[in-house]
Amino acid sequence: MAKAEPASTLFGWQGITLRVPADWNLGRVDGDYQSGYARLDDAEIVRAEVEWREGKKRQLSIEQLVDRYLEGLEKKAEKSGLPFAVNRRARFLKDKRWLEGSEYELFTWEADYRTYNLARCCPDCGRIVLLRVLTRLQEKAEDLVGEVFQSLDDHPHEGQVCWSVYGLRFQLPAAFKLSGQELKSGHLQLSFARDRQVCRVHRLSLAHLLLKDTGLADWYQGFFHKQLRDFKVEVEEAPLRGHPGLRVRGQPRSRWLQLVRPLPFLNPRPRQYQDSRVWRCEAADKICIIDHLYRKREEGEDLPLRLSDGYFCHQEPQAEPPGHAQFAAGAQ
Ligand SMILES: [Zn+2]
Ligand SMILES: [Zn+2]
Repeated sequence: MAKAEPASTLFGWQGITLRVPADWNLGRVDGDYQSGYARLDDAEIVRAEVEWREGKKRQLSIEQLVDRYLEGLEKKAEKSGLPFAVNRRARFLKDKRWLEGSEYELFTWEADYRTYNLARCCPDCGRIVLLRVLTRLQEKAEDLVGEVFQSLDDHPHEGQVCWSVYGLRFQLPAAFKLSGQELKSGHLQLSFARDRQVCRVHRLSLAHLLLKDTGLADWYQGFFHKQLRDFKVEVEEAPLRGHPGLRVRGQPRSRWLQLVRPLPFLNPRPRQYQDSRVWRCEAADKICIIDHLYRKREEGEDLPLRLSDGYFCHQEPQAEPPGHAQFAAGAQ
């Protein structure tokens, strides 16, 4: 019998995706699509870091970028008095076929931890990614390191970006750029903007407590009371993904009503429409929400319904995003 694999999870942010052990969670994130940084931690230590930036106009080769990066690290190590050992063009990956055709360098360095590093320029999109996996010095982790490295993907597929953090996973057209995030454990919220449209994706935990004394429709209107007050709201039952759900549509209130409201005088809120899908996933005990806000009626097009297709609320084997099938196949 094959030994049980530790459960893995997908991390996805700004077009970077990685399959990692389930207990590696986002610890810090910074930047935007052009350049940024994300760090994954387990309960005790930093486990992985990934940096990305656009590489189309770069002046330096990958090798020179690595030179520069290591020089900086060596200086820091000198100052702190730590022993620091580097191994360039390191051979820790058993399978390097997936790197063929790209400019890259593998290297390791050790201080109080051992780190496995890949610096690579993607031949498809030109993005430069530095991926680093950390292990304890005594840990035998090369198989795991190999699997994490091989799962790296760094660009959208079919125009869709896969976002996956703390188990909240969905696909969004690349034209929507991340404009805000609130990652509280009970309530995850990511906001995106595209021209003057806004898309917000929420996931709330402990649905059974939130809905203990109230129905989904009343809960939603109470919880989002502030957000909804500028709209004439219409709520209808609309099951989704086999779950009980709602479609909530908001129309701008009449201009007259907006005028008599004591709203900010200099910055009146824009007149806009809202279309939302809300559903309760019993299996995961979550409330899932996708909001779409837009200015012109014809921009509606029920975007939340389409997005709900790529929204992962409970385990479904076919929910793997495009571009990942190849890794699953390669791993067998
Ligand atoms: Zn790429
Ligand atoms: Zn579900």
